[in-house]
Amino acid sequence: MCHALLCAAPRVAFVESATSAILFQGLASRGPKLAARNMADVIVIGAGMAGVTAARALARAGLRVRVLEARHRVGGRIHTLRDFCEAPVEAGAELIHGARAQIWPEVRAAGLTVRPSPHGMTAMMVDVGAGARWLPIALLDPQTWPAFGVLRRLARTEARDLSAREFIERRGYRGRARTLAEMALASHLPGSLDEIGIHGFLADGVLELETGLDHRVNEGYDRVVGHVARELDIEFGFVAQTIEWSNDLVVVRERDGSERSARAAITTIPPGVLQSGAVRFEPELPQAKRDALAAMVMGPALKLVMRFEESFWPRRLALVGSGVGPVTVYWNVFYGSKIRAAVLSAYCTGPRAATLARLNEDELVATVVDDLLRHFPKARPKLAAWRRIDWSRDPFASGGYTFLRPGGAQARARLAAADTGALLWAGSETATQPIAATVAGAYASGLRAASEVIAMLVPAQP
Ligand SMILES: Cc1cc2nc3c(=O)[nH]c(=O)nc-3n(C[C@H](O)[C@H](O)[C@H](O)COP(=O)(O)OP(=O)(O)OC[C@H]3O[C@@H](n4cnc5c(N)ncnc54)[C@H](O)[C@@H]3O)c2cc1C
Repeated sequence: MCHALLCAAPRVAFVESATSAILFQGLASRGPKLAARNMADVIVIGAGMAGVTAARALARAGLRVRVLEARHRVGGRIHTLRDFCEAPVEAGAELIHGARAQIWPEVRAAGLTVRPSPHGMTAMMVDVGAGARWLPIALLDPQTWPAFGVLRRLARTEARDLSAREFIERRGYRGRARTLAEMALASHLPGSLDEIGIHGFLADGVLELETGLDHRVNEGYDRVVGHVARELDIEFGFVAQTIEWSNDLVVVRERDGSERSARAAITTIPPGVLQSGAVRFEPELPQAKRDALAAMVMGPALKLVMRFEESFWPRRLALVGSGVGPVTVYWNVFYGSKIRAAVLSAYCTGPRAATLARLNEDELVATVVDDLLRHFPKARPKLAAWRRIDWSRDPFASGGYTFLRPGGAQARARLAAADTGALLWAGSETATQPIAATVAGAYASGLRAASEVIAMLVPAQP
């Protein structure tokens, strides 16, 4: 969710290595010497944006890299639906945020095209309690005025970390101003006001979303990660359950005991999966890492992607952001595109996603359509198809993405720290630049972790 208004207003070709995996396993079982010779230099766990970026950088440095991926596709939380309508629709990550996103060169190199998703005055509707109104009209409401500039005030906030709720209460926002302030602090992040720490909010670069420069990839976000992943050696369907680490060897085991080992490894397993206890570390992770994981919340994120027989929303509408009601934001998926399919994506985060996740599919659809009628009372929406994607139920994500609890502003640096011998750490949750917990952050983290491994394994040139 974006909230530019709050500041602005008052102003493949993959090498699916089943064969090589079998060969590798066979060699490993024939004795340590042979296994050691065929051992990869580096294992990368996870073929999301962080993992494939790290793996490619390592391969380019001349190292033998093996990627282990639990799913049967690359991309992780980038997941493009290609069977929903005539054009790709995003089930996970949707937007490239800002001009500083480090993935732009990859988008260009892959020959992909983009379309903007503006959240400015003329393209966005907001609901602060009176139904969806065009942004300028919503902001004409004097009840909202005290909350203008809430994000600027946040950036100048006191030394002690506060929860978003404490911050809002200290400022004394009431009524619609409070709703607007809550939207500013909680609508992008998948958590409640009590869980979100304002120092973490700032450290994570969430204010960067204020630039309003968001883009969708016309050919699908998965094409970006696919471009980075081409030519990598990826073993699909490998679910890491135990990671044994030391200073010069990392062994990764599946439930059935089969194992892969390397001189170093990078894990990109999302924090939600680690917090669930699905992966065991031997020896146990250092206290600083465990504290870092405890300081993060991998909050729920749920999408209901809907195709209607015809559009019932204004053509110039890019999104509807709502501070009340069951849905956090509705994206007009094909805004700015020649595609005529009438597709809305209802995106829900935090407590709203948790509530909707408890509904069965019929109840969910009925709730969302009712909510749409609240915003567009004259509409007669005819739903042709829908798809529910609940990232909390995905065992290889266990949530949408992370934010930091009060007092947790250092957690990402601690999770990223190279303090577990030959096991290094990447993933969007270890990045803060330019925005934490994003695709661009994942990409940056992959490059950072790869450079750490290269420094460890590749002798410096004299
Ligand atoms: C609904 C939603 C919307 C989002 N919107 C945006 C957006 O608009 N813009 C944006 O920039 N970001 C967005 N994000 C965040 C973005 O998708 C992630 O930050 C980013 O894709 C994470 O990349 P990653 O490589 O760090 O992790 P992941 O993509 O999660 O990759 C980790 C990989 O590890 C694998 N794995 C997990 N467990 C194991 C295991 N035990 N063994 C082996 N492999 C394992 C997973 O299958 C996965 O492929 C969104 C996320 C969600 C869920």
